[in-house]
Amino acid sequence: MQYNYGKSKGELFIKKFLIIVFSIIIAVFGGLFLSKWIANTVTDNFDKKVTSEHFEISYNLSDEKVVPDVQEYLEENYEKITTNLKQPLDETIQVKIFPDLKSLHNAIKVHGHFFWWKGDVQDWVVGSASGGPIRIVSPLNPGNPGHTYEGILKVAVHEFTHIVASKINSNVNASIFSEGIALYEAHQDINVSNDLTTILPNSIEELFSWKNDNDFGASRVYTLGGSFVGFIIENYGYGKFIELYKRDYSNNVFDEDIKQIYNNWIDTVKNA
Ligand SMILES: [Zn+2]
Repeated sequence: MQYNYGKSKGELFIKKFLIIVFSIIIAVFGGLFLSKWIANTVTDNFDKKVTSEHFEISYNLSDEKVVPDVQEYLEENYEKITTNLKQPLDETIQVKIFPDLKSLHNAIKVHGHFFWWKGDVQDWVVGSASGGPIRIVSPLNPGNPGHTYEGILKVAVHEFTHIVASKINSNVNASIFSEGIALYEAHQDINVSNDLTTILPNSIEELFSWKNDNDFGASRVYTLGGSFVGFIIENYGYGKFIELYKRDYSNNVFDEDIKQIYNNWIDTVKNA
């Protein structure tokens, strides 16, 4: 009797202990999900929404007059890019126009990370397509010097190209390709007046090692990406580019085929 009594008391204690532990876990995770949901909602809150054939655009009243331009520019490019990359889309693409860089960066940070307060975004970012919707700063208020109204319309097309290209390969690990195709399709002639020969890589391994998540890589990728991808498309066709886009470059192994393309590109840039 004594023994049984002791056991049930112990069981009761364990039961209580487990209930408390589970309650704490549920409260912590519940709080985390709730805070994530609130952060998502607050950073993506807009006055109005308008839908065209392929896009649904959210915006604030202060940006109402840019909406027809953004809509028209995206619709004009839709057919061309989905056809070029041979990726028909089923879904309506969400577009969100942020009134300033601060609110854009906040939204990218929050939506890019489950632990929303840990997100990070570089100062020069004016658009994003990661996580699904296209997010751009308002063409009326692009913030960063060097960006124009027209330039931000191109950024919208650049981000749209990322969405289409992600259907070819959602895990592409060559920034030179992922940024290159977006620059090329959006006709962003960034730094074309610069002498590209001064920043050419020394090897194909170096070219593919550049990542746009750091300033050095970004300064190279955004300057040479459009040139490299444009060279491939104009000399070998979209089919070849799509084949190359599907490959995994993480092991740093390059076959003769792509080495030849790389060497031809380097020669062409040097002799331009
Ligand atoms: Zn990009």
